[in-house]
Amino acid sequence: MLRTQWMFEVDVNRRFLVDGKRSWKWVKKPVNEVKEGEETRCHWCKNPVRIHRGKKVRWHAEHLETADSETCCGGVVGKTGTKMPSPPRGA
Ligand SMILES: [Zn+2]
Repeated sequence: MLRTQWMFEVDVNRRFLVDGKRSWKWVKKPVNEVKEGEETRCHWCKNPVRIHRGKKVRWHAEHLETADSETCCGGVVGKTGTKMPSPPRGA
């Protein structure tokens, strides 16, 4: 598993009170603020992610589908803070 595919921020589906009504909103949160059982997704490609809460590794998120990791720039953004285009294939 490549570390570049790790993401440290994900979208979390949180409940908000707007004008006295409950509504759900996707908000970007650090992985360590995600609570057990909350619905999460990739902030960049909106695909499902898995949260890793390891004792020995830094908490992080990874795409459920490897194919999503290959096309999503989320891991790279999370690591370097800059958006980098995917390298061309077969060039
Ligand atoms: Zn993604």
